[in-house]
Amino acid sequence: MSAEVLSVPCSALPWQAVSWQRLLPQLEANTLPHALLAAGPAGVGKYQFMWALATGLLCAHPSAGIACGKCRNCDLLRAGTHPDLLRVQPEADSRAIKIEQIRELIGFCAKTPGIASRKVVLLAPAEAMNTSSANALLKCLEEPSASTQLLLVSHQPSALPATVRSRCQVLAMGLPPQQPGIDWLTQLTGSADTAAQLLELTGGRPLQARDLYLEDGLERRQALQQALDSLLARELSALDFQQLTTELELIEVLALLQTRLDHVLRDGVLKQQGSPAIIAGFHFRDELARLQASIGHGANPNRQLTVEDCAARLVKTVGREPTKC
Ligand SMILES: [Zn+2]
Repeated sequence: MSAEVLSVPCSALPWQAVSWQRLLPQLEANTLPHALLAAGPAGVGKYQFMWALATGLLCAHPSAGIACGKCRNCDLLRAGTHPDLLRVQPEADSRAIKIEQIRELIGFCAKTPGIASRKVVLLAPAEAMNTSSANALLKCLEEPSASTQLLLVSHQPSALPATVRSRCQVLAMGLPPQQPGIDWLTQLTGSADTAAQLLELTGGRPLQARDLYLEDGLERRQALQQALDSLLARELSALDFQQLTTELELIEVLALLQTRLDHVLRDGVLKQQGSPAIIAGFHFRDELARLQASIGHGANPNRQLTVEDCAARLVKTVGREPTKC
C-alpha cells in the first residue's frame, strides 16, 4: 500500500470526480447505502477512492466529503490507529481473507463507535474472501448496523458470490479516459511522452503506471511487452516466453497476459464484433480471471506449466495467423 493512498486528507483522483460528485449529496446527508462496492480493473484507483470516502466519513470537519486533515480523527487515521476504522485485507502470509478476519469484522460492526460518529470497514480485495468468509460477511450485509459503513473493493467482482454483490451498491470504475491519466502521470514524470508510454504499457491503468515508474520498471516492462509481441507473432515459443518471465510471480505473468488480451479484444471488438475469434478471446479472458482468483484463494498450480499453457493459448486465441508456405 503506497504512502499516498494512506495520506489524510485524501481526495478522489481526477478521473473519479464524477463518481465523487454523484455520491456527495448522500455523503453529506448521511444517507449512503450501508455497503458500497467499488468494482473494476486493478490499478485505476478504486482503493484510493474508498480511502478518501472512509477518511471523509470519520473526520469531524469534512469539506465536500474530504477529510480536514487537522482534527483528532484525522491524526488517528494518519497514524493508522483510529478505533472506528477496520481495514480488512489478506494478512502478510496469505492471499486470502480468512474467516477469522470476518468474525473480527462482525464483532467490530456490533460495537458502538469510539470517537467518530460512525464506524467504517474497508475491505479489499473482496474476491480474496473464500466461500466461508463471504458467507460470514453476508450476515453483516443482510443485517446492517446503522452505525457502520461497509466499503468493499474488488478487481474481479465476477469472482464474488452474487449474494454479496447484490447487497452492495456497486460503483463501477472502469478504465479511465486516457487524457486525465496522462495529465496525472505527467505531474509525476515531468514528461507527457513518458506518461503516455507508461499508460500504454499498463493497459490504461494509471496507478499501475505510476507504480511501474516508481519501481524503475519501464525498461523491464518494455522488454516483456516485446516478448509478448514476439510471442503473438509466433517468433517466440511459449517455452521461451516462460523462461523470459521467471523473475515474475505467476499471478503477475497472468495479469500481463490478460492486459494484452484485453488490449487485443478492445481493438478487435471495434472491428469485428461477434466473430468466433473474439468470442473465444472472451472465454479465455474469463478463464484467466478465474485462474488468478483461484491463485488469490491459495491455489498453487505448477508455475512453468501454467505460464506455457496460457502463453500458448494466448497465441492460439489472438496470435498472428501462421504464414502459409
Ligand atoms: Zn478531520
